[in-house]
Amino acid sequence: MKGAVYLDKEKVIIKDDLEKPTPAADDVLIKVKYCGICGSGVESYKTGGMYLPNIILGHEFSGEIVEVGENVRKLKVGQRVVVDPNVPCGECYWCTRYKENMCKLSNNALGTTQNGGMAEFINVRADHVHLIPDSMTFQEGACVEPLANCVYAVQESGIKIGENAAVFGAGTIGLMTIQALKAAGVSRIFAIEPVEFKQKKALELGATGVFHPKQYNKVARMTDKIGPDHIFDCVGIPETLMASINLIKKGGHITVIGIHIEPFEMRGLMQVPLKNITLRGVFSFTPDVFQASLDLIAGKQVNGQALITSIIKLDDVPDMFKKLANPPHEEIKVLVEI
Ligand SMILES: [Zn+2]
Ligand SMILES: [Zn+2]
Repeated sequence: MKGAVYLDKEKVIIKDDLEKPTPAADDVLIKVKYCGICGSGVESYKTGGMYLPNIILGHEFSGEIVEVGENVRKLKVGQRVVVDPNVPCGECYWCTRYKENMCKLSNNALGTTQNGGMAEFINVRADHVHLIPDSMTFQEGACVEPLANCVYAVQESGIKIGENAAVFGAGTIGLMTIQALKAAGVSRIFAIEPVEFKQKKALELGATGVFHPKQYNKVARMTDKIGPDHIFDCVGIPETLMASINLIKKGGHITVIGIHIEPFEMRGLMQVPLKNITLRGVFSFTPDVFQASLDLIAGKQVNGQALITSIIKLDDVPDMFKKLANPPHEEIKVLVEI
């Protein structure tokens, strides 16, 4: 079968002699329909970090069940599904406390440490499979996983109905965080983003105001010079983290979602105690949040479709990685049609 394989820094290739998997007793075989290209994949492509070499890419995918293992009772051939790509151990300190995203195996997931869904077929454990309703398209299905990261961030932040928030970055994660905040009853959401077409998207999808990063201080004016109750850093670079610490109200909460691999010098950290700031990081999500995110898209509370800027073929994946790693470009979420 054919699939996109991550090799190393700046090396993503298409192979057409990959072995088609056969489902073990507790597995199902899925014929993949759509698979998203994730920002973390692009980050790995740029730096050579995070992903294991020689694995099939793809952890944001939808498809149809074409075979079921002998022990699988709840799933049938022909069902339309999406897959929670995380593979926690299920036994460690964290897993037994329903914090599977902090599992001792940490980053263990399809498409990052095990073969993923950017291929014609993938074998997955039946308990990772979630059915999608007829009203949900396969393209929307591929948006469930990125949304789950944002829903988890919003949940963990502890934000309450009626509070306000600022969101740094209006790429896939930023735009989904804006929508998750809106669904959570957040009254005013300020997006901070330099790129004009992304600014427009942020307004379209629920931001009440949008600002260029150079003018992020305008958010302070919009909040009676107090600063927002919550900030979500969906970029995670030194500039956005330092701006967040500057902008947040005293006693406010900063939630960092964006991942920055390179080391950097940090200034202004003393503001964290001086302003009584809660600074929190979130990584991935728990299994319950995956289903909640699916429901938010199914219930039309979150628009995944609006984020899709290109649909490409498997053969175009290497060129698209090159493009995404070298901005500026006009892409938000790119899906691969298998
Ligand atoms: Zn991802
Ligand atoms: Zn575990």
